[in-house]
Amino acid sequence: MSARGARLNIGVLGGTFDPVHVGHLRPALEVKSALALDQIRLVPCHLTPHRPQPARSTALRADMTQAALDGLDGFVVDPREMRREGPSYTVDTLASMREEAPEAALYFLLGVDSLNGLDGWHRWRELFALSHLVLMRRPGHTLNGFATSLIEEYGACAERALQTQAGCLLSVDTTELRVSSTAIRALLARGGDPQFLVPDSVRTLLLDRTDYQDCHD
Ligand code: ATP
Repeated sequence: MSARGARLNIGVLGGTFDPVHVGHLRPALEVKSALALDQIRLVPCHLTPHRPQPARSTALRADMTQAALDGLDGFVVDPREMRREGPSYTVDTLASMREEAPEAALYFLLGVDSLNGLDGWHRWRELFALSHLVLMRRPGHTLNGFATSLIEEYGACAERALQTQAGCLLSVDTTELRVSSTAIRALLARGGDPQFLVPDSVRTLLLDRTDYQDCHD
C-alpha cells in the first residue's frame, strides 16, 4: 500500500555505480521523501550503451550498491539489467517494470548531466510514456538548451504527476553534493580514502580490494 493511497509509487535510479556514492544516495532519499514514494530501486547498468564499459564487473558494482543499502528501508538493488542480454537500455528496464506492475506509477530519477544528454538515449521519448522523470540538481552541471526545452514540454505538471502514472518531468530541490564516481576512482587510484564520500560499508569493500588501483578512467 502506498504512502499516498492505493497506487504503488516506485522510484528508479539507474547508474553505473562505479562506485555508488552519497551523491546518488542522499538526493534519492530526498526524492523518496518529497514525492512520498514507496520504494527506490537502484538499477546497476550492465552493458553501458552511452559510455565505455567499466573495468569493474557489474557483480562488483551491484555488490557495493547492495552494501550501501543494507539496513535502509525502502531501497533495493534491482538486478534486471544484469540478467538481460544486450545493451542495458533504460527504456527496456522501465518497460519491464511497467509490465510487472501495470498499476504503479514509475519515477525515473536522473541528474542534470543525464537529462542534458537524454536525446542520445535509445528511444528516449518513450521514457515519458513509461514513467515520470525526476530531475536532481548536480553541482557543476547546468541545464542545456535541450533539457530546458524538455522542462517546457513536460515540466509544468507537478500536480498532475500525483494523478498519473507517467509523462511529467518533475524537479526536486535536492541537496547539491559535488561527488562523482569519476572523482572517487581517481582518489582510489592515488591510494586515497573515500571516507564520507561513500557509505562506510562501501568504503570497507573499496579499501579491501584492488579493483580501483591504477584505474585511469
Ligand atoms: P561517473 O563519474 O562514473 O560518470 P556518476 O558519479 O555520474 O559516475 P552514475 O552512476 O553515472 O554516477 O550516475 C547515475 C545517476 O545519478 C545519473 O542520473 C547521474 O546524473 C546521477 N548522479 C550521480 N552523481 C550525482 C550527484 N552528485 N548529484 C546528483 N545526481 C547525481
